[in-house]
Order: sequence, then structure tokens, then C-alpha cells
Amino acid sequence: MRPESLFPAFAPTTSLKGCGPRLAPLVEKLAGGRVLDLWWHLPSALIDRRYRPRIAEAEPGRIATIEITVDRHQPPRNPRLPYKILGHDGSGRITLVFFNGREEFLKRSLPEGEVRIVSGQIELFDGQVQMTHPDRTGTAEEIAQLASVEPVYPLTAGLAPRTLAKIIDGALARLPDLPEWLDPAWQKKQRWPGWREALLAAHRPETPSDLEPDCPARQRLAYDELLSNQLALLLVRRRLKRLSGRPLQGDGRLRDRLETLLPWPLTNAQRQANAEIAGDMASDRRMLRLLQGDVGSGKTMVALNAMLLAVEAGAQAALMAPTEILARQHAETLAPYCEKLGARLALLTGRDKGKARTALLERLAGGEIDILIGTHALFQDDVVFHDLALAVIDEQHRFGVGQRLGLAAKGQRDKGGVDVLVMTATPIPRTLALTAYGDMDVSKLTEKPPGRTPVDTRTVAADRFLDVVAAVKRKIAAGERVYWVCPLVEESEQSDLAAAAERHSSLRMALEPEFGEGSVALVHGKMSSAEKDAAMAAFASGAARLLVATTVIEVGVDVPEATLIVIEHAERFGLAQLHQLRGRVGRGGRPGACLLVYSGPLGETAKARLKILRETDDGFRIAEEDLRLRGAGEVLGTRQSGLPEFRLADLVAHADLLAAARDDARLILERDPKLASERGQALRVLLYLFERDSAIQYLQSG
Ligand code: ADP
Ligand code: MG
Repeated sequence: MRPESLFPAFAPTTSLKGCGPRLAPLVEKLAGGRVLDLWWHLPSALIDRRYRPRIAEAEPGRIATIEITVDRHQPPRNPRLPYKILGHDGSGRITLVFFNGREEFLKRSLPEGEVRIVSGQIELFDGQVQMTHPDRTGTAEEIAQLASVEPVYPLTAGLAPRTLAKIIDGALARLPDLPEWLDPAWQKKQRWPGWREALLAAHRPETPSDLEPDCPARQRLAYDELLSNQLALLLVRRRLKRLSGRPLQGDGRLRDRLETLLPWPLTNAQRQANAEIAGDMASDRRMLRLLQGDVGSGKTMVALNAMLLAVEAGAQAALMAPTEILARQHAETLAPYCEKLGARLALLTGRDKGKARTALLERLAGGEIDILIGTHALFQDDVVFHDLALAVIDEQHRFGVGQRLGLAAKGQRDKGGVDVLVMTATPIPRTLALTAYGDMDVSKLTEKPPGRTPVDTRTVAADRFLDVVAAVKRKIAAGERVYWVCPLVEESEQSDLAAAAERHSSLRMALEPEFGEGSVALVHGKMSSAEKDAAMAAFASGAARLLVATTVIEVGVDVPEATLIVIEHAERFGLAQLHQLRGRVGRGGRPGACLLVYSGPLGETAKARLKILRETDDGFRIAEEDLRLRGAGEVLGTRQSGLPEFRLADLVAHADLLAAARDDARLILERDPKLASERGQALRVLLYLFERDSAIQYLQSG
């Protein structure tokens, strides 16, 4: 149960003064719908009204607060011209400029002959000092009431700066006093304020340095968030480990024969990963290992090796893929080997229903299936294994701690827990891996199978569409196959689908006269499984030569004849995603090419990103660069990546704090595994504050 002290935090923003039905949706879009979302919405700049020069000394471009005598109003003769007010002080003259100024209002707030204070940006126009739309005007007393330094918050259209600032003030007025969860010695050493104090300070910057990620207040808040993340991950991990593992010993009979069946020798990296996994499986602790390897690095064989080990030991293994297409593909790749080895492999997807499904589940429960491949259909309650010992989860580039737990829970209790191997094709930078998985053991396939040439990557402006189509035609005429990727932007899925369908029909018009009806196929997420399969099958068999696809996931397949990939709106994709997509071509020995079609003009960052892709083929370097150029939350392209999002921590700026938080979390749970001490209780509040509630469940279930 959430502690009572946090109830105000989770109240809706509509409970705040000034946040009515018109503004609440805007606030929600900007920051979130609850009071604490506004706490986390920190200012990005400040306005300093302490600069109070005389008119003659005011520096153009700066925000200045000046005391003037109002001389004369000059309403415009033509309404399109601005309303002007002339004024002076002892040093010189100033003109205040208002577009669409309302005379009545201006006469009242800046009466002729009176002394007033105006605050705003100083401009020089024709050698005259002027200020357009001062953001503050008033008498000396009125101005003295206002804060001399104001926070500037990131905004969204329709929400005025002062309106938002007032709503946020209201949210801050509800900040509770929470017990301190930091270790006192560490806090003192860092010179960090308490949590409430830190949050208030972060919202009330005094100088530009107070906006920097390394100022004490922001550091502390970031640390709190990172600590909650690391603590939660550690709790999950400890829970998995506590369901103890069992030693699995294989005699090598299947794995040794597999090697003789493979048309090529394993890479050293694959051998190394196999050995690490076998070591984990042999121990009586549970395996929780992440297998990281760039696209095409050969993870599938490592997975098969691990699964065969489980089978040698007399148990079962499962492989879960993120999509049906990928599950099918894995099954097709592995089936021929399994057949020769006498390992019984089956495929289970959401599409299997009725009698066939029941029969399959019976064989599974009876131990007549050794290796089960599938989608998340594997989690369903009626899927009961005879003796599951290993779960391999192929995440490609989606992540979900919850799902891992689900599959791991399927192991037979009396026999011990399920070993878990997570495969990811996204070379996650170390910092991200740590926040997504905590201290999972990691195997990396850093070396690719020999004979791969890097994909020839070029950028092309969208207005050279005809050239791109010509390049596609050349490839197809040479007997090769082409992917054409249209981006899917979450907000407007419908219009993106429409765009993809339109692209499909325009490419059909361009290509089918030459290459025949059906030579251009389309696959997107809203198709039925059968339609998707048909399109994929047509492309794999060569009946279709060009495949128009909307999402990354759907093209996560292996078609060795594909040698060119065209990516439209490349500027909208994350670097890692582009790298993934590019990895789809050039797998069959023939060199691959990638055309990144962009719609300009490109910003500096977009340019830098596309340049990195042209320059390097090293997925790990690309991932690091991506993290450097963009926020961590964006690295994997979409929010749906399932990676934790941070509101206060910046994984680049606060990388060292992350390591400290990890160590802190370890020490905390070593000393106080149930979080029962006084500090432990405070840490529970921290977990609730950052919505890591599910981790607390693991704590309570002991
Ligand atoms: P990943 O899943 O890591 O993207 P895959 O396991 O699909 O990569 O392997 C990519 C391709 O490389 C496959 O066609 C596979 O048969 C091939 N492959 C795997 N291991 C080797 C190896 N040691 N030598 C040569 N080719 C390999
Ligand atoms: Mg793969």
C-alpha cells in the first residue's frame, strides 16, 4: 500500500488551482496528469530581473528591469502598426512597443506622467533603445512583490508561461516532508540537501549554474531516481535468484554433433558465450544472463547450444520471440538441426487454437517436446511444461522485466528454477544495460562471422525519389531483393499506414510493369497474421522482389537475397534502429547497401547521426554515440522499448551517480534485506515515490 504521505503526490493535477478542464489536458500532455508529474517538470532556463541598468547603459539582448517616467502614448494610425509608448529616465529615452496593444489597458497600466517599472528584453532599433511587449510592468511596490528570478519551464502550445508557473507553484505547495532515505554520511559528503529542499531549489534557480545537471539539488534528485531504479532491479533479481537454480549437466552429445552439422566453424565469440552459459547452467544458482550481439553476430546458434544443453540434461527449453514472424523464423532455422539431432522441436503462437493446440500442450506436459519456440503465447496459464529448465528470450529491441519473470515462474518448483538467457540485438551501452537489467551477467558477441562486408550506407534527399527508384530497379533486375521501410510514428498510426499503403501502390506502379504483378509486397502491423505471413513468404521465396514494411519488427527476418534497404524519413528513426534495419541486408554473401532517405533540412544532430551510420558498422559504437547525441529515453527509438524512462536523471550527465546508486542498493539489501530498519522504511517510500511498486511486492512476499 502506498504510504499516506504520498497521497498528494498522486492526486490528479485537476485538483490544483488554476488547472481546470481546459488546461489540464495541456498540462498532462506536457508533464503528466498527476501532481508529482509537475514536481518532476523542472525549469530549463531562468529569467533574471536583478539586472537594473539605467536606459543608456542597458545592454541589448538582455532582460532588463528599468524604472522610467512615462511621457506619451502614441496609438497607431493604422491598426497594423504597433502602439508605442515613449518614456525616459535621467540617462536617456526608451520606446515601449506593443502589437495589437489595447489602448484602454495600456493607459491604465502605464499612465502618462507617472513613474513605472518595466521589465523585458532590451533592443536597439535605429539607434533607439526599445522594449517590445515588456513581460512585467507596474509600480515599484508591485514589482517588489514579484520574484526577481523566475524559472522558465518547458512549454507546450496553448499553455502560457505564467499560467504553468502558477500551477507548478500550487503543486510544490503540496510537497510533503518525507523521511530521509539517503545514507547520512554519503549525503553529507556530497553536500546534498534533503529531498524536499532539493526539489524546491531545483524549481527556484538563482543562477544559470543552478540549472546544470551537476548542481547539488539536481544531482540529489537524479540520485534518488537512480537509487529507486537500482533497488527495484536488485529486488527483482534477488527474488529470481532465491527461487534457486539447479545444476544442469549436459554430456555434450547433442552440442558436439551440432558442430559437425554446421556449415561453418563457430566464431570465438560464440564459443566463449557458449562456455559462459554452460558455466551458469552447471551451477546451482540461477542463470540470469544477457547475450548482447549486433545484428548478424550469430546469437541464434548460441541459443540453440544452450537449449541443447538443457535437453542433454533431460529437461526442456523454451525460446520466446517478440513477434510471430520471428518465432516462425527461429523455428524454421532450428528445425533442420534439431531433426538431425533427434531433439523434438515445436512452435506455439497465438494463432494455434483448438484441437491442434490442445494436442501440442499435452505433448509438452508429457515431456514429448524438448524445445518449444513461440511468442508471448508461451506465458499463458495453460501452457504447462513437463520440466522447463531454460528460457531464452529474444528481445530484439524490446525489453520487459515483467515478462522474464513470467516465463521463469513456469519452472517446476520441486526441480528448481528456470535459467534465463535474454538475447538482445541492440548493443545497449553499459549505462543503459545497468538501468534496464541491473547487474545481469553479460556475454557479448563482439566478433561477427567472417566474410561480412560492411553495408554501403548513403544518405539521399527525399526529392531524389526517382533516383532511388532507379537504384531499386537495378537491384531487382540483377535478381536481388529490396526492403523499403516507411516509418511508423506512434501519434498518427492511421496516417502512417495510409502513407505506407500509398507508397506501396506508387512502387507497384513503378515496378510491376517491368517485374510482373505481385513483385511488390506490403507488410504492416495492422495486418492479420496470415496476411503478414503471406507477404513475408512471398518475399522470402522471391515471388515478391520488393517488400514495403512499416515497422522495424516486421523486418526482423533473415532473407539472404536481400541486398538493398531503403529507409524513408531516416531522420525519424533512432540510430540503433537504423543500424538494426541496415543489418537486414547483405547477409547472404553478396554486399549490402542502405539508402537513408531524409526530408530536409536536417538539424545538426540529425546530420551527425546519419554521418555516424555512414562511418561505422560497429553497433556498440553506434549505441554509445546515440546515447551521447540524444537522451537515453530516446536511444531505442520509441517509448515502447520498455526501457526505464528517467524524469530527473540524465544517463549521460549522471553516469557516475548510476554506479554509486548500484553499489548503494547492493549494500542496503545486504544489511537490511527486508527494508525493515528506519532507513529501510524510508527507502520503501522512495520506491513508491518513483512508482517501483512491483518491486515492493517482491519484498513483502519474502
Ligand atoms: P543474430 O540473431 O545475432 O542477428 P543470426 O543468429 O541470425 O544472428 O546469424 C546471422 C547469420 O549468420 C545466419 O544466417 C547464421 O546462419 C550465420 N552464422 C551464425 N554463426 C555463424 C558462424 N560462426 N559463421 C558463419 N556464419 C554464421
Ligand atoms: Mg536473431
